[in-house]
Amino acid sequence: MTKKEIVIIGSGVSGLLCGKRLTEAGHSVLLIDKGRNAGGRLSTRRTDGAVFHHGASSLPDFYKHKDLPEFVIKILKRAEKEKVIQRKGVIFEPFSSVSHLVSFFAEGLNIKEGCEATSLDLKNKTIDVTYRSDNSTKLSYDLLIISIPPNQAKTLINNQLDRFDSCLSEVEMRSSAAALFSFDLDPALIKETYFSNKNVHVYVENNRFKCVQRLLSFTVHTKEPFAKKVVNNDKNKIKDILFKEVSNAVPVSLPKPTYEAGHRWLYGFTERSLGKAYLFYENESVGVCGDWCSGSTILDAASSGVKLAEQVLKL
Ligand SMILES: Cc1cc2nc3c(=O)[nH]c(=O)nc-3n(C[C@H](O)[C@H](O)[C@H](O)COP(=O)(O)OP(=O)(O)OC[C@H]3O[C@@H](n4cnc5c(N)ncnc54)[C@H](O)[C@@H]3O)c2cc1C
Repeated sequence: MTKKEIVIIGSGVSGLLCGKRLTEAGHSVLLIDKGRNAGGRLSTRRTDGAVFHHGASSLPDFYKHKDLPEFVIKILKRAEKEKVIQRKGVIFEPFSSVSHLVSFFAEGLNIKEGCEATSLDLKNKTIDVTYRSDNSTKLSYDLLIISIPPNQAKTLINNQLDRFDSCLSEVEMRSSAAALFSFDLDPALIKETYFSNKNVHVYVENNRFKCVQRLLSFTVHTKEPFAKKVVNNDKNKIKDILFKEVSNAVPVSLPKPTYEAGHRWLYGFTERSLGKAYLFYENESVGVCGDWCSGSTILDAASSGVKLAEQVLKL
């Protein structure tokens, strides 16, 4: 095997697992992510007194997934054995927090967080990146993996792969909104883990995972079709709308929050996938992966990343 310099744009589940497979096979892999932390839609926010899980927070039963690469099954079995995840009925959930699961996936990887790819030159194999929205530089690669949602990939590729845009006509993503609230109230007031009404799901962060939560905290997610009405507002307005919903959904009277934030998931969920595990352009040395290639879950994202890595290893 000739050792390659591989850059992966995006350190969500697909990028992380792709990077892990290629790193373990002996390639030199750098992951870059514009977010503050790795994980992408597996996201956690820590504030003074609360930990919020406002992205994906469970995974389907990986023993039942029909088409998972052996490498993914091995990692998830180890995560189960080491109590990073645990079975809850027909799904698996993180044991202590989603960020613990992300750290488990990211173990041993070279990841540069706060680093955004702003443009690509596929002919000269370089990427313009901005680090922490400030310093700009160029990265070179032998092989590039793009592991980001489809619309963002389209913008970045910018017509340099003529067959790429036509594939995307098949793909549809759905947006949603979320909000995070904590209150200076005794968490013991509420024993339940979950409430809902017509418009929202409300997760009681105190009763979900084993991480320490000092304040009574809720993460609120919009349901369809309410999500469509809410998601185009700015984050402040989203927070105000969802505060009304949470006040109506939980059985205690809520004071002014000590922490409140709105969040938009513009490319949150796959409605219609590409129907292929990944895309690979051998002449240009570019691969594309992500949940949207073949499905809509963490397992589909992991599968896409690892299958692309295994294609690269055949070269
Ligand atoms: C609210 C919500 C709840 C969900 N719940 C579940 C669930 O319970 N179970 C489940 O299985 N799935 C769930 N999902 C879906 C799951 O989160 C996704 O399938 C999976 O996380 C997608 O991983 P990914 O690696 O394909 O993409 P992402 O996680 O989106 O990763 C892409 C990464 O690329 C980075 N990026 C983008 N552009 C650039 C750029 N130009 N430069 C550098 N970095 C860039 C982003 O910051 C991000 O970290 C949920 C999704 C949402 C939004």
